[in-house]
Amino acid sequence: MRNERLRRLRNIGIIAHIDAGKTTTTERILYHTGLIHRAGNVDDGTTVTDFMPQERERGITIQSAAITCEWRGHQVNLIDTPGHIDFTAEVQRSLRVLDGGVVVFDGVAGVEPQSETVWHQADRYGVPRIAFVNKMDRPGADLDRTVQMMRDRLKAHPVVVQLPIGREAALQGVVDLMAQRALIFAGDDAEPVETDIPVALQEQAERERERMIEAIADVDDEVALAYLEGDELDAETLKAALRRATCEGRAVPVLVGSALRHVGVQPLLDAIVDYLPSPLDVPPMEAHVPFEETRVPCRPDEPEPTVALVFKISTDPYVGKLSFIRVYSGAVRRGDTLYNPATDSTERIGRLVRMHADRREEVEEIAAGEIGAVLGLKMAGTGHTLCKAQRPLVLEDITFPAPVIEISVSPRSKADQDRLAVALQRLLDEDPTLLVRHDEQTEETLLAGMGELHLEVVIDRLKREFGVEVAAGAPKVAYCETITRPVTVEGRLVKQSGGRGQYAVVVLALEPLEAGSGLIFASAIVGGAVPREYIPAVEKGVREATKAGPLAKQPVVDIKVTLVDGKYHEVDSSDRAFETAGSIALREGVLRGRPVLLEPMMEVEAVVPQEQMGDVIGDLSARAASIVGIEPHVAGIQAVTAHVPLARMFGYATALRSLTQGRGTFAMQFSHYQQVDEETQRKLSESVA
Ligand code: GDP
Repeated sequence: MRNERLRRLRNIGIIAHIDAGKTTTTERILYHTGLIHRAGNVDDGTTVTDFMPQERERGITIQSAAITCEWRGHQVNLIDTPGHIDFTAEVQRSLRVLDGGVVVFDGVAGVEPQSETVWHQADRYGVPRIAFVNKMDRPGADLDRTVQMMRDRLKAHPVVVQLPIGREAALQGVVDLMAQRALIFAGDDAEPVETDIPVALQEQAERERERMIEAIADVDDEVALAYLEGDELDAETLKAALRRATCEGRAVPVLVGSALRHVGVQPLLDAIVDYLPSPLDVPPMEAHVPFEETRVPCRPDEPEPTVALVFKISTDPYVGKLSFIRVYSGAVRRGDTLYNPATDSTERIGRLVRMHADRREEVEEIAAGEIGAVLGLKMAGTGHTLCKAQRPLVLEDITFPAPVIEISVSPRSKADQDRLAVALQRLLDEDPTLLVRHDEQTEETLLAGMGELHLEVVIDRLKREFGVEVAAGAPKVAYCETITRPVTVEGRLVKQSGGRGQYAVVVLALEPLEAGSGLIFASAIVGGAVPREYIPAVEKGVREATKAGPLAKQPVVDIKVTLVDGKYHEVDSSDRAFETAGSIALREGVLRGRPVLLEPMMEVEAVVPQEQMGDVIGDLSARAASIVGIEPHVAGIQAVTAHVPLARMFGYATALRSLTQGRGTFAMQFSHYQQVDEETQRKLSESVA
């Protein structure tokens, strides 16, 4: 029973470059699965998944919402992913909980720079994918070109399983190359009509079917053998082979259509069921025992242990805080008391809901493999694990790229000031890529985030959702600090003169880590030199102290901190004392570890007409860029990739627009941190001294 339920489950995300049609495709899927009766239209701002007002205005899907729908007896959970590069952290966290993805391409624009970024992230998380080449009704849409770009730019192995029938406004349907049948889409509401392949397309369909079989044979031995022997291959055999290859990430089935015109949506749903994995078809997630290396696989088909990941927190105006969870094994039931190792606390599971397009369904349990939301959890944050107290386990935390840009905000009035802290706390709960700090010298509140747009959205939300008006300063680069050599330090807090004292001693080993590793905390305590219950307090103190490094009060990153030894006192030790000792040791350690200041380097890809390439490269060089490569994109258009210090990229959108008469586009994402030159380090250190 359990396995049958799991086999009929798909947790998928729709992944796309902004404007490729992700929102429209999601809408059409919800429409055709029968849950909403009028398909929303992004252009009128009436969609279901985009529910924050400024998303509607901007037409960007910022929040991941998980929505459940049904198709052919399968439960399909759609986890919405954002398309804008500033929100890659959102994409990453949704990728973590998906079993498969539908990547939507714009049939005219083909594979755009940002689709590449997201594609590579999906590779990294091993997410099997199918592709939907959308907008085939637009002039200039070209399936072959898009497929070729998938090979060249994404290094993918596309397997085209459909052909469009008709072009542009005359797009009518698709040929199903597996069944060698045509599907004609007559109207928005109508079921597709299955017919013979139009005579004019028959020859092409034969040829394309042959190519499809060859492409499947490339990745499946069984089909390869049958093909070589000249055996007839039926649709079932081919589909099964393509499913295997897709689930293992060795092939990408390609479908076509037009979401807007309701062409190809039902076959896309079929393909989700046919080719994308169920939770049983992906390797089980692994969890580990807190502060230990022991790893435990979390199988969805085993009743134990209970392990769920909180992957998203959002605030619903009616029901309050919603914590979205994916249960990896066991089940989360109403009334359970679950343990959260990250906060070392337990919480009772009050109400559980599953979100549908048009309603919230209260459920008694969220079983392994499934996605749902818990109402009213107080302590749980994004990336936290929920488990049973008697079986503590942690899933690998979701790591987010460090925020690279910072702005100061000042409340416009006393009333705004009072509300600001509460509002920011809410936003912080929801968004782990947002950081807030208070600059003691300037008395300013500083917000740090992933990019200019990210922070703009935050400020917008402050105003709309919380009624807080702030004046924002100009964006500044967020620097950070790290150490360059390993050190071992002791942190002591010993105050034992009269009354109840404070006593905590910790010894920390600090090691520099590879760029991008963040902060890793571990404990190597054996024999209780620091009792287990104080270890989370030490970690808390360490994390607190990394918020402002010794050079320029910037966050300390890319270090591994191991608690190696310590001392405690039966009466005078407390969490507070160990927290303070942890902070003292960390600060001392960073000072002694030869700290350096780092600046964010961005990977910039600009796609520009060939004739303006010279000017664009000249401008990038003036911004201290190092050019990584230049590649042809589509005809007459080239793509240049460069690494550029973020500090030099402000206002680039405007510069590129004027250099290319508005024809150039670019994508920018954080690449790595690089040590700043001495001059900059001196200036920055002085400015905070
Ligand atoms: P998202 O940014 O990826 O979520 O894309 P949207 O779904 O918001 O679509 C972007 C724009 O493309 C909107 O104006 C849509 O109406 C339009 N669009 C989406 N799908 C199609 C399609 O199949 N054909 C055409 N012609 N336009 C489409």
